[in-house]
Amino acid sequence: MYAEEVAEMAGRIRDEDIALVRERTSIAEVISDTVTLKSAGGGNLKGLCPFHDEKSPSFNVSPARNVWYCFGCGAGGDAIKFLMDAEHLSFVESVERLAARANLQLRYVEDDRSAPRARPQQGQRQRLVAAHAAAVEFYRAQLTTAGARPAREFLARRGFDRAAAERYGCGFAPDAWDLLTKHLRQQGFTHDELVTAGLSRPSRSGSLIDRFRRRLMWPIREITGDVIGFGARKLFDDDDGPKYLNTPETPIYKKSHVLYGIDQAKREIAKQGKVVVVEGYTDVMACHLAGVPTAVATCGTAFGADHISVLRRVLFDSDERAGEIIFTFDGDAAGQKAALRAFEDDQRFVGRTFIAVSPDNMDPCDLRLAKGDLAVRDLVARREPLVDFALRHMINRFDLDTVDGRVEAMRRAAPLVAKIKDREKRPEYVRKLAGDLGMEIEPVQRAVLAAANGQPAGVATAPARPAPAAPTVDSPHSMVEREALKLALQEPVLAGPMFDAVEAAEYRHPVHVAVRAAIAAAGGAATAAGGAVWIEQVRDACDDLAGQALVGELAVEPLRIDGEPDPRYVSITMARLQWGSVTGRIKDLKSKIQRINPVSNKDEYFALFGELLSLEQHARALREQAAGGL
Ligand SMILES: [Zn+2]
Repeated sequence: MYAEEVAEMAGRIRDEDIALVRERTSIAEVISDTVTLKSAGGGNLKGLCPFHDEKSPSFNVSPARNVWYCFGCGAGGDAIKFLMDAEHLSFVESVERLAARANLQLRYVEDDRSAPRARPQQGQRQRLVAAHAAAVEFYRAQLTTAGARPAREFLARRGFDRAAAERYGCGFAPDAWDLLTKHLRQQGFTHDELVTAGLSRPSRSGSLIDRFRRRLMWPIREITGDVIGFGARKLFDDDDGPKYLNTPETPIYKKSHVLYGIDQAKREIAKQGKVVVVEGYTDVMACHLAGVPTAVATCGTAFGADHISVLRRVLFDSDERAGEIIFTFDGDAAGQKAALRAFEDDQRFVGRTFIAVSPDNMDPCDLRLAKGDLAVRDLVARREPLVDFALRHMINRFDLDTVDGRVEAMRRAAPLVAKIKDREKRPEYVRKLAGDLGMEIEPVQRAVLAAANGQPAGVATAPARPAPAAPTVDSPHSMVEREALKLALQEPVLAGPMFDAVEAAEYRHPVHVAVRAAIAAAGGAATAAGGAVWIEQVRDACDDLAGQALVGELAVEPLRIDGEPDPRYVSITMARLQWGSVTGRIKDLKSKIQRINPVSNKDEYFALFGELLSLEQHARALREQAAGGL
């Protein structure tokens, strides 16, 4: 859907302004909002790719060239493309977001075919975020009214003063049917926008009413700080709703990704290399105020795989640097279940996952109230490795005083030890398990080995998907190369960043290789302003005579698209260009995997297999992108 939007709207911001936004934007800062970046040498930065799952960082950012590129999945581009991909914004929304960040006023081209607009049409996302920003102010002001007394008392009883309430933007949804709705309608938000945002809903009579009433409100922010939803706590006994109500799924609020407090915690999480996962809004506040600034919470859902991906990127969790994730639980069964599920979700995380079970079944908020800030910091400091916690939890379910009980406990616990990825730690846990069970080491060791060997069979025998046919090195690929070069020469402002981000190795025709090299030698297409000067610069930078002639030819040859090129056409062309090498890499990987013994080299086998799956996924995405609507 957004492709059409891009095509339709791309012309409305002036080219000079788009270029200025690129120039004034620090790509490292924009990407650092969501991905923790480290030095990669030579002035470049690297991090874990947000677009594919990986263990070691292959996501590269070049601040000097203002581009990013992932060697793992081939995604790449400029800051605008990053926001489009990472936050699912349209081209125009991305440019608007970056312009606001850089304090730039955008000018829009008036479309000849339509009447000039009173104001630029904003993207949907921006409208929904603006509606939430207005709602935060509304609820905040309500918190000081007489009717909000129970809300203020609730906060005070939990140890939060006015400054704390303000820091987290706490508010109050008043006892009225449509006060917020009317307020936001007056500010120009439409019926549809308020429903889509999850702030209002139609009543049975058909009129629009507020979603939240008579509740204490917490704004939920995404990692960049934008408010995208609310958590609302019940305050009155005659309120028959659930204790906590959250914003429903909307185009901007996805509960499987949202982590409350991440906007305030992200810098400390990256700095300390650890994150503390708690269960509620008040627990996040209590932890931060008690000196545990790395706390976050899920919102109305269990901690899952998507949350792990978000955190791993902030933690910079990789083989080189281990990030630590600490779950706090108040010791009840639900919390323990959630911890054990982490075992299933992401094996790579297991060795770095810790559990902190609070004494007397108190959550961090209660603990802070009863015993002070130090007790909260102690709770986190006294964490226990997940493996230890899981083993203890597992064997406690059996009667270890009987032989049958001990054998059954061993059989159930052995697969947990077999799952520990860090194999050097396995003997240690075999000994520990044997000790806890009161058994000899040998039978426990045999049980763990059996569990470990039983595992790869299912994966090793999985049928490999048929390889997509690789294109031959003939004219179709050369035509794509030619088209990409034309875009770089004729439309550098539009196509430059995406063009520069695709490696020179994707070009095969020798003369095309020469022109691609000349474009790089002239400083790259992303920095070019275009026009005759740019064509001359490339021609001057070209050593190859045939190449020089081709530059002149490509500068005037019409693009193979009816009408004006747009970001979508650029991305289709660049996807087609990379198709051949991705399928080539798939072929190489498959042959490598066939030569590996999956039993004796299990870790390498799984690593390559994972790489193959993600490459195949990337190939499918590229194929769809390349076929997209032309
Ligand atoms: Zn990637």
